[in-house]
Amino acid sequence: MAAEPAGETGGVWETRRRRAVFLQERYAFAGDLLKLYGALVDVQEAAFRAAKGERVSSAEVARLAAEIVLPRVVQVTTTTGPALLIAQIQERLAAIDPIVLIEQWLRGEEQSPVDRYLARASTAPILEALGTAAGEVCSGPRDTLHCPRCGGLPQVSVLEPSGDSLEGPRRCLLCARCSWQWTYPRMTCASCGERRTARLRVFAEEGTTEAEMSGSIVRGLEKDKRTAGSRATPWFPHVRVDACETCHRYLLGIDLTRDSRAVPIVDELAAVPLDLFAQEQGFIKIVPNLLGV
Ligand SMILES: [Zn+2]
Ligand SMILES: [Zn+2]
Repeated sequence: MAAEPAGETGGVWETRRRRAVFLQERYAFAGDLLKLYGALVDVQEAAFRAAKGERVSSAEVARLAAEIVLPRVVQVTTTTGPALLIAQIQERLAAIDPIVLIEQWLRGEEQSPVDRYLARASTAPILEALGTAAGEVCSGPRDTLHCPRCGGLPQVSVLEPSGDSLEGPRRCLLCARCSWQWTYPRMTCASCGERRTARLRVFAEEGTTEAEMSGSIVRGLEKDKRTAGSRATPWFPHVRVDACETCHRYLLGIDLTRDSRAVPIVDELAAVPLDLFAQEQGFIKIVPNLLGV
């Protein structure tokens, strides 16, 4: 299934932008991250449209990302991003040719957070525009634990209505590199494939049905609740942590059957308290998100 249904691509960017604005108001603690993301969406939408319109070939991806998109990413980060990131970017770009960062990301190599940020923000819209051809420029295994299109790692797990009442909701993983989605079995670790229920941990916020069912409750969000007065309702009724005791990895899961307006790629960025909780329990995220969380 396509993350970008043909003919609705403009709608996807507008949906992401609107969701970022909406969540900025709802989650003050993620306001700065979402503001930066919103600025990046404008740059990424322009890059997506340009790449689509010019029918970019896979051979041109790295050059286009490095020469056209990356300078704009740097520009909006400089006006909207945190001071530390801005300083790191300036230092890094003085030392390395941007195309090297881009190529490392496309090859799936280990990178520093600042390198990954620049490469990922600059390449994502072009890979989305390329569709299936994105696979030609990206290295990585094509198996159930990686994106079948580009070989990237899963950023977020998504539960969505399947339209089949017998089958129940369908689980997909969304690629960190090209945003493609692929179907993946429920109650299976997205990092190592572990299926033994006793090895899989689900953490959800206190007050959610997920937490009541799993018995694993995130209580660490209380301090955040104080900033908005006393709240009877949870912050993240539609988000959970899927963690694994076998590989000690985790990723966040967005449940669209609980909030049909959620936009997984955006909501994942906002759920920082759940990330912090999972990391305090000793789990490592399968892959940090665009903003390095
Ligand atoms: Zn992918
Ligand atoms: Zn695992």
